[in-house]
Parts: sequence; structure tokens; C-alpha cells
Amino acid sequence: MNEFDIAVIGSGPGGYVAAIRSAQLGYKTALIEKYDTLGGTCTNVGCIPTKALLDSTHHYIDAIRRFESHGIHFSGVNLDFDQMYKRKADVVKKNTQGLNFLMKKNKVTVLQGTGSFVDNETVNIKGAGNQDIPIKAKKYIIATGSKPSTIPGIAIDKKRIITSTEALNLADQPNSIIIIGGGVIGVEMASIFNRIGTKVTILEYAEHLIAAMDRDLSTELSKILSKEGIEIRLRESVYKTENLEHEARVWFKNSQGLDDMLSADYILVAVGRKPYTENLGLKNTGVELNANGTIKTNKLLQTTVPHIYAIGDVTGGAMLAHKAEEEAVFVVEKINGQNPYIHYNRIPSVVYTWPEIASVGYTEEELKKQDIKYNIGKFPFAVNARARAGMETEGFAKVLSDPLYGELLGVHIIGPRASDLIAQAVAGMEFEITARDMASVCYAHPTYSEVMKEAYTIASGKASVNI
Ligand code: FAD
Ligand code: NAD
Repeated sequence: MNEFDIAVIGSGPGGYVAAIRSAQLGYKTALIEKYDTLGGTCTNVGCIPTKALLDSTHHYIDAIRRFESHGIHFSGVNLDFDQMYKRKADVVKKNTQGLNFLMKKNKVTVLQGTGSFVDNETVNIKGAGNQDIPIKAKKYIIATGSKPSTIPGIAIDKKRIITSTEALNLADQPNSIIIIGGGVIGVEMASIFNRIGTKVTILEYAEHLIAAMDRDLSTELSKILSKEGIEIRLRESVYKTENLEHEARVWFKNSQGLDDMLSADYILVAVGRKPYTENLGLKNTGVELNANGTIKTNKLLQTTVPHIYAIGDVTGGAMLAHKAEEEAVFVVEKINGQNPYIHYNRIPSVVYTWPEIASVGYTEEELKKQDIKYNIGKFPFAVNARARAGMETEGFAKVLSDPLYGELLGVHIIGPRASDLIAQAVAGMEFEITARDMASVCYAHPTYSEVMKEAYTIASGKASVNI
């Protein structure tokens, strides 16, 4: 029997980070993964391939729509769909190979196969050749992630009625696609396909895109995506889909409450993801689940069996790669007797549309609901010199701060490179720096970050010198 100090099940950003941190701290570590590549959803069919396609399509749309204004003229721009997808596959491959290297470097034992608990102490790994490898570990970390979920009446057949996973592996460019769900996956996928000329329709149940986001941002996002040519239909409730071989159909109650139907080459179901615990053998352990299928954990991320921990998508909370990574380091360092902490309210979220969206902390709606008083500092990219130079003038930064002490309560950005700009706001919130202090440091000119300085300035009650 192979014995380990720590065995991690699942090799996504939660699992691989946990395994590396565990090995760094001197524990004999195993990483169990059922697929033959490491990296989980994020690296193989999530964060990385979507960003590769978002970047490719961004270059394409710039070439056909914007280069002329820069005085760059060329003819015969066309899209090689196969090459675009091949490059995406290469990016994924480089990342998974990088993980193989990191496991070797850190002396993590990688065991390929499905890990299943036999009891609280033992996990059996069923490999590709159906052979059994039983192991014992002093501590287990479950990091088995999530899978796409669906809604009643919609059977995902992976042919015409697909999820993001199949959309990332299409053989040909679709003429049309209907996306059920205007959440994060919905708007990122819509951006990819719309930019290359596919007719995209989003059917969203709620009144706004990405309903949990600060309302000002989702309103601005809807405006921008509609202008780009995406048809956004809000308050539409889908209840049935059908694969007709050559196309697919979707039925829904429209915003007037009437039955409606649309057809397209593909229906992409993006209505959320569910925790993945299938074949994990949890019934052989004392590990309990919550009503929504996530693994029940305490504040230390211990399950109901104290030496079995759970992290990442499988535990609930935000389904984000960096949240899984934070939890990975937290659990291993806690096991090691250190004193790590996670402030869940200070985990940023990013949507990689263009312009990008990035948020941390409370939205204005949440503050209103909790009757918390706030100052607002809002500043548009339209008057930022760097944004004008780069033709990136859409969007704004919005800072919400405490009117008495100036503490940052929430920061929300829609604009160019919002994904990078949010990092300073996260640092500001984490270390309880006031809006006035955030405004008082020097920001290089001309940069997009000056928009942040102005938003902090206005939130702290001072007048901006730039508007
Ligand atoms: P996962 O990454 O899901 O990994 C779990 C792993 O466990 C998988 O490899 C699975 O095969 C393995 N496994 C499951 N059961 C077993 C078993 N019994 N035995 C062995 N192995 C098992 N998040 C972001 O932060 N930024 C983004 O830009 C982003 N983009 C996304 C785009 C898409 C299209 C999708 C679908 C998701 C995206 N996410 C993004 C979310 C992100 O991918 C997840 O939050 C993240 O992957 C969760 O990490 P995890 O380690 O918990 O699980
Ligand atoms: P989501 O929860 O973000 O959005 C699902 C949407 O589907 C919601 O807006 C919901 O109102 C809508 N919906 C549900 N039922 C419907 C119906 N019957 N008809 C019409 N609309 C309906 O989920 P997702 O977009 O599938 O993403 C899953 C997870 O993946 C998210 O939690 C997200 O955190 C993660 N993710 C993150 C990123 C990123 O960080 N950039 C990118 C992609 C995915």
C-alpha cells in the first residue's frame, strides 16, 4: 500500500496548487487526476482556452474594425478558424506540460485514475487499464471541481445542445448560436463568436446580464455588447430544447410571458455549474454534502471528517480559479500549523469581455440592501489621455467608500485592462487603505490607472482635476 502525508484528489487550480504547496512544506504528496492531462477545468476547458480565443478574436476584430483609424490599411483579412482553435490547443498544451514539469520539480507523485474513497482512511485509484491502486494518506484534500449544470427540459447532447466545453472544441465556425444564460460564461462565449461573425443571441432569465454584478456595470455591458451586434434578450425563461440534426431549437417564455421559439446551429447551455462528487465514494466516508450538492466544510475547510478537507468549486462560494488557489494554500498551511487567512469579500472577479469588467467588495445594490452608507467616486475612461490614445474610451471606474472613515467598500471597473487594474483595489481593501490614501499616491501618466486615481479622489470628497 502506497502511503502519503497528503493526497489531493483533482488537479485543477485548487488541486495542483495544494499539491505543490504541500510538497514545498516537506510533505510526501500524491496528486490524483482522472484525466490524462493535469490542470482541471481551468486549464483544459475553462479560463485558459477561453482567454486564448478571446485574445485571438480581439485581434481579429481590431484588424477589421479599428486598424483603419490608426492609419493601418491592408486587404484580405480573413479568419482561419482551424488555426485559431489550434493555437488555443497549443496554449492549453503548454500550460498542462508546465504543470507536469512543476509536479516533477516538486517531487509530487501523480497518480492517473479516478480516486474513490473506500473508507475514511483509504482511497482506491482506478486507472485507465482498470487496475486498482489503493493508497492511504494522513490528510486528504478533495478538489474535484465542478461540471456544467442544466435546467429541466434541456438535455445536453454535446452535439447541437452543447456546453462551453464543446464550444471550445468545435470543428467548424457556426453561422448562429443561441446562448442560454447571460452569466459569465454566456457573455464571454458570446464575445468570442460574435467577433468572428457568428450570429449570437443570449436568452437570459434575469433582468440584467450577470445578475450579481454592480448594476451600473451590467447596464453598461449590455449597451456595449448590443452595439457590437449581440442580441440580448432579458427576462426570457427557457424550458425546452430540441436537436433537429442540422440545427437546434429552443423554446422559452418571452418577456411578455408568451411562448416563443428560436433556432440556430447550436444551443449553448450556460446556466451555471454544479459541484462534482460523482464516483468519489463519499458514501463510504463520513463526509456530508449540503443541500445544493457542495461538500459541507467548516471555516478551516475541513469536511465532517476532520482529516478530509475540501477546496475550490466543489465546496461552494465563488467558482473562480484564484479562489480555489487561495483555499489550497490556506488548507496546506493550516495543516502545517501556520496562520493563513482568506477574506472572501476581497476576492476579485473578472469578466473577460472587451472592455473587461472587474469587481471586488460590495456592489452598490448590496450596500443599499444592508443600509450601509457610502460615497461614490465614478470616473470615465472617455476623458483619460491614455484611453484616447489607444481608442479605448468605453467604460468607467466606480469606487464605493465609507463616508466617515474612507475605507474602500467596493471597487467596480468596466474598461480596458480592468482585470489588471483591480489588483491595486484588492490591495487597498485588504490593508484597509482609505480612498483618500489611494488617491494620494502618484500614478504614472499617461496610464489607464489614472482613472482609478480620479475615482478614489472623487470618492474621498475632493474634486478631480481632470473632469
Ligand atoms: P477543477 O478545475 O474543476 O478541477 C477538478 C479536477 O478534478 C478535474 O481535473 C477533474 O477531472 C478531477 N476529478 C474529479 N473527480 C475526480 C476523481 N474522483 N478522481 C480524480 N480526479 C477527479 N475562473 C476564473 O477564475 N477565471 C476565468 O477566467 C475562468 N474562466 C472559465 C471559463 C469557463 C468556460 C469555465 C467552465 C470556467 C471558468 N472559470 C474561470 C472557473 C474555473 O475554471 C473554476 O473555478 C476552477 O477550475 C475550479 O478549480 P477546482 O480546482 O476547484 O476544480
Ligand atoms: P452563471 O451563474 O454566471 O450564469 C448563469 C445564468 O443563467 C444566470 O444569469 C441565470 O439567470 C441564467 N439562467 C438560469 N436558468 C435560465 C433559464 N431557464 N433561461 C434563461 N436563463 C437562465 O453561470 P455560468 O455563466 O454558467 O458560469 C459558471 C461559473 O463559472 C460561474 O460561477 C463563474 O464564476 C465561472 N466562470 C468564471 C469566469 C471568469 O472568472 N471570468 C468565466 C467563466 C466561468
